Amino acid sequence: MLRAIISSGLKLNKAAFSTAALPAPNTNPEVLYTGIFINNEWHKSASGKVFKTLNPATGEVIAEVQEGDKADIDKAVAAAGNAFKFGSPWRRMDASDRGVLLNRLADLLERDRTYLASLETLDNGKPYSMSYAVDVPGSIKTLRYYAGWADKNSGQTIAADGDFFVYTRHEPVGVCGQIIPWNFPLLMMAWKLGPALATGNTIVLKPAEQTPLTALYVAQLAKEAGFPPGVINIVPGFGQAGAALVQHNAVDKVAFTGSTEVGKLIQEGSGKSNLKKVTLELGGKSPNIILGDVDLDYAVEQAHFGLFFNMGQCCCAGSRTFVEDSIYDEFVTRSAERAKKRTVGNPFDLNIEQGPQIDDEQLGKILSLIDSGKKQGARLVAGGGRHGDRGYFVQPTVFADVKDNMDIARQEIFGPVQQILRFKSLDEIIERANATEYGLASAIFTKDIDKAFYLVQGLRAGTVWINTYNSFATPQAPFGGYKMSGTGREMGSYGLEAYTEVKTVIVRVLQKNS
Ligand code: NAP
Ligand code: MG
Repeated sequence: MLRAIISSGLKLNKAAFSTAALPAPNTNPEVLYTGIFINNEWHKSASGKVFKTLNPATGEVIAEVQEGDKADIDKAVAAAGNAFKFGSPWRRMDASDRGVLLNRLADLLERDRTYLASLETLDNGKPYSMSYAVDVPGSIKTLRYYAGWADKNSGQTIAADGDFFVYTRHEPVGVCGQIIPWNFPLLMMAWKLGPALATGNTIVLKPAEQTPLTALYVAQLAKEAGFPPGVINIVPGFGQAGAALVQHNAVDKVAFTGSTEVGKLIQEGSGKSNLKKVTLELGGKSPNIILGDVDLDYAVEQAHFGLFFNMGQCCCAGSRTFVEDSIYDEFVTRSAERAKKRTVGNPFDLNIEQGPQIDDEQLGKILSLIDSGKKQGARLVAGGGRHGDRGYFVQPTVFADVKDNMDIARQEIFGPVQQILRFKSLDEIIERANATEYGLASAIFTKDIDKAFYLVQGLRAGTVWINTYNSFATPQAPFGGYKMSGTGREMGSYGLEAYTEVKTVIVRVLQKNS
């Protein structure tokens, strides 16, 4: 499987891909932190409530976590506001020293890589080989990348009209609320912490209720790294904390990754409160377009990986695989064979490609969409049901002869269910690929460079992959969506913009004769 990921172009730390370099997981990692982290201290919830986080591979409870709500959010926002005050240690810190702290945090993640990967697998269910080779090193790279930016995000001196010296200062926005999802808990945390801290903001972060454990461990690492109290606050919650953060008038910005439905509520919450700035990274129904001239084995493997990676729980999953008529039947046959070979089971087993879905609710949603595919006349060629009766596993499922108007071709499934659609011409495919409310990612597989760049112009999506899928490895490249897939961009230098205010300074320069 690791070989498949390398060939699929998921370019990460190469050392991680030799099986020899993969240390044995800790299948029973001790859960050390379950509290609310404010001002570098651990707190109990104000309400006294706790919630359970489960192991999705078994449905068993791993730990009880303090359940933050509005009162705890208020406390965390006050701490972040205090840490942001003009003249505070954080505001007075040299920008390069913020970079030093981010690098130190990255070093601590590296030190505890096996533990963190094990904890992520326990709480989220993703294969340990992925947590270890993708999530943890991807998080480390992201923190280091933004550490480098800390003292390089400069303003401009401006050639202004008149007798003026004009320059801009790039300043932090203030207190940032960050709501992160359960599909890549640690990695999405790094995507949010990196740019916000590099630019000097303070943070109240709410991890997903299904997967709070790695975020809480990283909170303790941030303290160990030396971040001043109040700069990073983590409030786990269950149904109240997210909204309280978004509606808070002392929060200057919110960043959210999750469903389009909640994204809309967040936009609304911002409008109803203090018009805080909002960046959203939401759902997708991404087209993966396979032209007739491809190397079939390569394209089948890539399309398989593009959909099934992370149990299909990817906002950018290639969940509409459009295949040109001339190779359609063979492509379907080979895709079904590949899905049937996919290994499903205990995510701590290094030979397993697919673990469980995140929870019972997602399992139910996926199974009901599979049912709708069957009822609406799509041809089931692999899988089609639950895998086993313990935990939340789904059989790798492939539907052929999918039509554009079927629910499985329109709704985000967020599970291991591949839809293969047929197309005949380039003009037809641009229109069909774009006929969705989403616009997160897309891909084109072809050896014909003219066709590839023609399609690049037509596709309305934040990312276009050519002859690869899910190639994210670089924190240098921006990611985000058109249309209802979101607003704003994360990663790369673009990712700094959402966390930076631009202040214009205009100085009158007196002339000798004035
Ligand atoms: P979700 O709907 O995307 O988001 C849940 C998160 O949003 C929780 O942290 C929750 O905090 C917060 N939240 C809920 N209502 C809020 C509000 N009014 N204002 C502010 N925050 C609010 O996650 P889900 O229900 O687990 O997943 C549903 C679907 O989302 C999935 O099927 C999938 O399609 C999509 N999804 C997408 C991604 C992605 O990467 N884009 C990731 C995960 C899920 P509280 O618990 O405090 O309310
Ligand atoms: Mg869990």
